[in-house]
Amino acid sequence: MDLFEELDTCGHEQVIFCHNKDVGLKAIIAIHDTTLGPALGGLRMWDYASEQEALNDVLRLSRGMTYKAAVSGLNLGGGKSVIIGDPKTMKSEGLFRAFGRFVDSLNGRYITAEDVSIDVNDMEYVFQETEYAVGVHPVHGGSGDPSPYTAFGTLQGIQVSLKKKFDNEEIGNYSYAVQGLGHVGYELCKLLRKENAKVFVTDINPDAIRRCVDELGCEAVGLDEIYSVDADVYVPCALGGTVNPETIEQFKFKIVCGSANNQLAETSDGDELEKRGILYAPDYAVNAGGLMNVAIELEGYNRERAMRMIRAIYYNVGQIYKIADQENIATWMAADKMAEQRMKTLSHVKRPHMGNGNPRFQGRK
Ligand code: NAD
Repeated sequence: MDLFEELDTCGHEQVIFCHNKDVGLKAIIAIHDTTLGPALGGLRMWDYASEQEALNDVLRLSRGMTYKAAVSGLNLGGGKSVIIGDPKTMKSEGLFRAFGRFVDSLNGRYITAEDVSIDVNDMEYVFQETEYAVGVHPVHGGSGDPSPYTAFGTLQGIQVSLKKKFDNEEIGNYSYAVQGLGHVGYELCKLLRKENAKVFVTDINPDAIRRCVDELGCEAVGLDEIYSVDADVYVPCALGGTVNPETIEQFKFKIVCGSANNQLAETSDGDELEKRGILYAPDYAVNAGGLMNVAIELEGYNRERAMRMIRAIYYNVGQIYKIADQENIATWMAADKMAEQRMKTLSHVKRPHMGNGNPRFQGRK
């Protein structure tokens, strides 16, 4: 593989390979685009089958972060990092502190956070070596678990989608099929049930199902049954790729709107939804609540400000629907266009010349 050719194709700025033999660190940090600001994106630890697989993952994920930040109106670029190794056996203080030093060496071009298999305790070690880490424990001025905020943001996406599809945004008037009852899915079920909505649920974990049934009054369905449930909204909150030719064939849904990343197996599946009159709420615009919450942390965390920003997901997704209508394109494409347009516009917005003589402006870029 020609690495630079690949970076060229995906538009990445910088990829850093981090190695420390003594603590067993093999990590990759990918900075996709810093047009809008420093690249922010989580750290994932995974037992990748090969280094190539890890590289592919970090390149794909960091590009996704650029689009998510851009469409969400954030002044952030896209980045991501991966540690290659089994999170069950290879986590250590040395590993995360060594990783933190690499992050610190980038001087704020990349800001890290939690992602798959990384928890607040791991981030504490990273945080000891660099201030360029967010999503840390509230005792350090952090915002803690982003999941309830992601769930609240997803609810905004659902509401504007109901408005668009049915010209009525009463959550309780409609029914939902929620797949995945983890951190986000459970919180979202709570919000939906608070409005007395009918909620069907499934998960590979029976305890997670039981909690939603017993505590919240949701109705359990089988793992594969979720795709054919007679509900208005499909809410994927587990894995990516669950919107594909095989599942679409079973859909009676009118809307797809959930928190999972990369819901469409292929973009052609987004086109297929469009053809069938099923409204697709682009995943990265809908699930940006967690990112918004940690972004606020950079300015000194304030919950009110975070909630206000997350409410804007209603507006952001509405804008995407407007672009899709105006240009007669699928919603996934309209989201990409909106993100690219913002990056293009802001790349032309430069600070006016500040003048040399005034000491107030010295040191400002
Ligand atoms: P999580 O790991 O807490 O929950 C995922 C749940 O999905 C688990 O309960 C798991 O048992 C279940 N699951 C896995 N495979 C399944 C299957 N085949 N069928 C049904 N259930 C299955 O993860 P989370 O933090 O709740 O995130 C959910 C999704 O939202 C993920 O795709 C994640 O990338 C995305 N997301 C999360 C956040 C956040 O703030 N946590 C932010 C943005 C996007």
